[in-house]
Amino acid sequence: MTATTPTKTVHIDNFIGGEYVRSSGGKTFETINPATGKVLGSVALGTADDINDAVAAAKHAFEKGPWPQMSIAERAHILKRIGDLIIARQDELARAESLDTGKPISESLNGDIPRAALNFHFFAQYAASIGEESFSSNPGERHLAIREPMGVCGLITPWNLPLYLATWKIAPCLAMGNTCVLKPAEWTPYTAYLLADIVNVAGLPKGVLNIVNGFGPDGAGEALTTHPDVRSISFTGATGTGKAIMKNAAATLKKVSFELGGKGANIIFADANLEEAIATSVRAAYRNQGQICLAGSRLFVQKEVYKEVVEKLAERVGKIKVGDPLQSSTEMGALISQEHMEKVLSYIELGKQEGKVLTGGERITELGDGYFLSPCIIEGLNADSRLLKEEIFGPVLPVVPFASEEEAIELANSTPYGLSASLWSENVNRCHRVSQKIRSGMVWVNCWFARDLRTPFGGQKSSGIGREGGRYSLEFFSEAKTISYKYS
Ligand code: NAD
Repeated sequence: MTATTPTKTVHIDNFIGGEYVRSSGGKTFETINPATGKVLGSVALGTADDINDAVAAAKHAFEKGPWPQMSIAERAHILKRIGDLIIARQDELARAESLDTGKPISESLNGDIPRAALNFHFFAQYAASIGEESFSSNPGERHLAIREPMGVCGLITPWNLPLYLATWKIAPCLAMGNTCVLKPAEWTPYTAYLLADIVNVAGLPKGVLNIVNGFGPDGAGEALTTHPDVRSISFTGATGTGKAIMKNAAATLKKVSFELGGKGANIIFADANLEEAIATSVRAAYRNQGQICLAGSRLFVQKEVYKEVVEKLAERVGKIKVGDPLQSSTEMGALISQEHMEKVLSYIELGKQEGKVLTGGERITELGDGYFLSPCIIEGLNADSRLLKEEIFGPVLPVVPFASEEEAIELANSTPYGLSASLWSENVNRCHRVSQKIRSGMVWVNCWFARDLRTPFGGQKSSGIGREGGRYSLEFFSEAKTISYKYS
């Protein structure tokens, strides 16, 4: 059965000053449905001129508009309404997200879209918790430490969780009274386009949120990172892109926050609840076709239980239902693009030469021209294999046995990345010891992807700079200022 093809293509414009607009040069590019390989729609090709217009609109809205002057409660009211409207339109948004990304509709409907709404609901309420501090060490003096909005912020997002990650930046940015320009990933512009309509209906003042589509280098992305009126860049994407952005943003000394790549270790000790560890490891490795920065993309299993775990894992992975993303029973959809699928296949080819494929790893041509791969497990790799060091960002799980706790820690830390890790053990002392020795921004103990939006989210080493979430986001999207008084 081949995947669903919509009857008509869409056209996606930029959104500047509260209006949908074509690109300044009138040019467009195509967005492809990964499940069919066919054109889903045409997209305004944003240029440096469009970025100039968008930044000017955002600057005007910041300097002349009501947004930064509104009370936190007034802003919260509008942000909450945006969240409500996302929920009201969740079927439409989930379908658009799955058509654009190839992810199963069940994930869009139960994961990405509700989370996008939650990002607005959460920050609408949480922004009020940012208080001001007052210090008074000398008589007759008082020092107030306040936070104020920064101005125009640049937001750049990837294709794997389009609306989820765009709103993770937009909501705290706006909650703190800033205005912004979003540059969505070129592969997945659809839901940001729908969000523009939602913010207008919700009553967000014009120019507070602007969206320019297009590419990174030499395109809209780069123009945003070099624009002198943009005060900060919040970027989620690949590590190499983060380095390029940092270089480009240096000339105008922008504040940056980078959420970059990952190569999550998933460690199963022999004393773990194996049933739960195996079931969760399957989700951690293959959710969103393995295209998640937080994926458990390296599995380390203590040798006493290695055979049992790997056999059960392979059996379950072999049963994952890969198919049309729009079917509710589909568990794994299509990879984002032909180019990305070929990159993932090249890692699988290398894995075949260096180790042994236990299941999957083939293109599924019976599903038509879409970019479908069968979920893959590979064992027998050397510790220095590229499959264990580099981010594959696909449904490929290398598994490696280990003997001791020390060896597991060493294996977990042996990549340039340090975003997230999971460990499974019923020994609480071991859980404490190991979680503290793993060099990553997040460690899940006997779980994966458990989140509280107040906690810091971000990576160590090559996985990022700074943290987002809760007060970390609110601090990033604001400037601290001290006002000192003398009185008699
Ligand atoms: P990417 O870096 O190729 O692109 C991300 C965004 O950056 C896109 O909008 C792109 O157009 C833009 N861009 C590219 N080059 C640019 C430049 N020179 N200047 C300005 N903008 C530029 O990443 P991707 O392929 O879209 O996403 C996958 C990557 O994102 C993976 O590495 C994944 O781990 C990472 N990611 C990280 C997190 C996290 O929270 N740490 C979350 C999701 C994805």
